[in-house]
Amino acid sequence: MKIICIGRNYAEHAKEMNSAIPSEPIFFMKPDVALLKEKEFYYPNFSKDLHFECEIVVKIDKVGKNIDANFAHKYYSEFTLGIDFTARDLQAQCKEKGLPWEKAKAFDNSAPISQTWIKFSDVDFATTTFSFFQNGELKQLGKTEDMIFSIDQLIAYVSQYVTLKTGDLIYTGTPSGVGAVKIGDVLTAELNDQKLFEFHVK
Ligand code: MG
Repeated sequence: MKIICIGRNYAEHAKEMNSAIPSEPIFFMKPDVALLKEKEFYYPNFSKDLHFECEIVVKIDKVGKNIDANFAHKYYSEFTLGIDFTARDLQAQCKEKGLPWEKAKAFDNSAPISQTWIKFSDVDFATTTFSFFQNGELKQLGKTEDMIFSIDQLIAYVSQYVTLKTGDLIYTGTPSGVGAVKIGDVLTAELNDQKLFEFHVK
C-alpha cells in the first residue's frame, strides 16, 4: 500500500506557512513504513522541530486509474484521523535548496493513524469537524467544509498520475494551528466529539 498526502488543502494553513493557495492539488507520498498504529511515537534524532499536522485520512476500497470526480465516491467508504508528522527544520532546508521533501515527511512512523474507522454513510461529512489536542489543549480545529479540494476532486487528480489500489490511504491536508511536539507530549484527536486516537511522544 501507499500513503498519498495532500499539501495546502486548507487556506488558513497555506497562509500560516506563507504559501500560496494552490490552483490544483499538491501531493507527495510516504512509504508503508511511515504508518504508525501503536500508541507510542519516538522523537527522531534528525530533527529539532518536529510538527504535528492532524488530517482526515481516506481509505481506498477499489483499484482505479483516471477516476472521474463524479464516480470517485465509489472508490472509498471509510475515513479516520491521522497525523502527517513533518520535520519542519529539514523541510525548510529542502525547500530552500529546491530538493524533494522525503527526509522531512516520509520517515519511519511519520504517519500515525487511528484504528477506528468511520463510515461515510454514518456521518454528515459536509458538516464534520475534527479537533486535535496537545496535552489536552486544543491546537487544531478542522472543518471539512474548509477543504479547498474535495475528496472526489483529490482522487480524480491523483489517479491521473498514480493508480490507486485497495488499502491505499489519502491524508487530505491539515487545517491551521500546526506546531512543534516535544518528548512527553500526549497527542489526541476527536471527530465530531468522538475520541479517535491518543499517541505518546517518547
Ligand atoms: Mg500535511
